[in-house]
Amino acid sequence: MSVQKTLKSGPADSRIPGKERQKAMEKLNVIIESSARHVHVTKETLAILYGEGYELTRKRDLSQPGQFLSEEKVRIEGPRGGIDRVSILGPERSADQVEVSFTDARVLGLTPPVRESGDLAGSEPCKIIGPNGSVEISEGCIVAKRHIHVTPEDAEKYGLKDKQLVSVKVGGDRALTFDEVVIRVSEKYATYMHIDYDEANAAHLGGNVTGEVIVG
Ligand SMILES: [Zn+2]
Repeated sequence: MSVQKTLKSGPADSRIPGKERQKAMEKLNVIIESSARHVHVTKETLAILYGEGYELTRKRDLSQPGQFLSEEKVRIEGPRGGIDRVSILGPERSADQVEVSFTDARVLGLTPPVRESGDLAGSEPCKIIGPNGSVEISEGCIVAKRHIHVTPEDAEKYGLKDKQLVSVKVGGDRALTFDEVVIRVSEKYATYMHIDYDEANAAHLGGNVTGEVIVG
């Protein structure tokens, strides 16, 4: 058996439908944004936390169209401890969702799964406390899976597909390559990569940074 044959063996990687195609295409250098811990809430939950009929106050727009950082802050609690001044991101959603880092999870005493936003079944319970009241959610606390929001135009241009897993290489004094980065394509998106503070710190990222998307 030749060495070459050995190297060639192994399962075909079915995650990479556009592999050959992408080789011939332009590389995507994506802007990387670090997301701090935050909460998404339903209208019903907001009414409990801040009072009936309360509306979120827009502090600044986020990179994704229509999404915004609000002025409102809550406390989140787990069995071991709590974290104050956690921002609510707007607008309201159809389910409560608490996104923390693994460092935060240790403080809270929780073991949240790594999930894509909205994939909450069986995720961790936690308590959300506002100035007017508190809500115990039976699930909804997650560590967000690192991801890239991609417009359909950029997906076409760079040969990327929804749900595809790619790697993203960053430079600097803690240069590293993030694997297991999920591509999410929607016309509602702008093309940006999102990681949490643990991941940003691991790579010593700050300010405006970009990473090179690697397929295959
Ligand atoms: Zn995102």
